[in-house]
Amino acid sequence: MVSRILNILFISTIASLAFTPASPLRAGDRLRVVTSLPTLKSIVALVGGEKVEVSAIATGYQNPHFVDPKPSFIMKLSRADMFVTTGLDLEIGWAPSLIQSSRNSKIQMGGDGYVDASRGVPLLQVPTSTDRAQGDIHVYGNPHYWLDPIRGKQIARNVFEALVKLSAENREYFEANLNRFDSEIDTRTAAWEKALAPLDGVPIIAYHNEWPYLEERFKFVVTDFLEPKPGIPPTPSQLVKVISEVRAKKIPVIITSPYFTTDAAELVTRQTGARLAVLAPSVEAFEGVDSYYDLFDYNVKVLLEALNSPPSN
Ligand SMILES: [Zn+2]
Repeated sequence: MVSRILNILFISTIASLAFTPASPLRAGDRLRVVTSLPTLKSIVALVGGEKVEVSAIATGYQNPHFVDPKPSFIMKLSRADMFVTTGLDLEIGWAPSLIQSSRNSKIQMGGDGYVDASRGVPLLQVPTSTDRAQGDIHVYGNPHYWLDPIRGKQIARNVFEALVKLSAENREYFEANLNRFDSEIDTRTAAWEKALAPLDGVPIIAYHNEWPYLEERFKFVVTDFLEPKPGIPPTPSQLVKVISEVRAKKIPVIITSPYFTTDAAELVTRQTGARLAVLAPSVEAFEGVDSYYDLFDYNVKVLLEALNSPPSN
């Protein structure tokens, strides 16, 4: 909360700097698209192709829930024709205030240049009014939905519809890219499912509750988390509980992300022999994970390596 307040203070200070208003789009110009995360950047690049110039605010190895604002982000947004956000409450601590501070009317919520990538995406873990105490950063349902490649097609469709609104003359071009994306995803998902068949029904522990979409698609079963609640760092009592679960259910793999320290996970792996797999939660999380396709290629490879390697103790 304190850091959130500091963020707001910081943003209102730098928002008082003067910006040149964004100039209207000229024929032949590329649409300037800014996304919150590199995964969305990759999808925009695949659908928008040479008609867009796209950049992301967060890096792929940053926790997407907590991103520190920088004046350069606001500068970038002040010149954007389109902003694509994950939506729900994933970026609620930083994206809305950046958008507001950009003073760019095109990308304010409700504008043609504001794209909520979650629109129409079937969500998992949508809480009922009675179980809001689950944690405070997943209150609208689990927001890590891009980790299912099939749901990625809906993200691409949302991006496509927004691009067509801003640049109707390029509709056919965007449509061809969208169709290519859809068929690539279908073909590749079938291959990823086949490769991950050994994971069917395998129990896994995760650091943060960010994998339910990957889990549902590829049929492994996350049975518990190192965080006692989403966004709350592992506690000794939670680790004791997890260690006994790993032993009792012979859980072979612990999965985590590059933005979490590995101390807690390593403690569990040392105590139990389970293997640690640091997955890519986003495009650009690691070198070589340059596109939305690479994201799944990488995670399939790392999951299989962990599953097939000897116990860690
Ligand atoms: Zn989360």
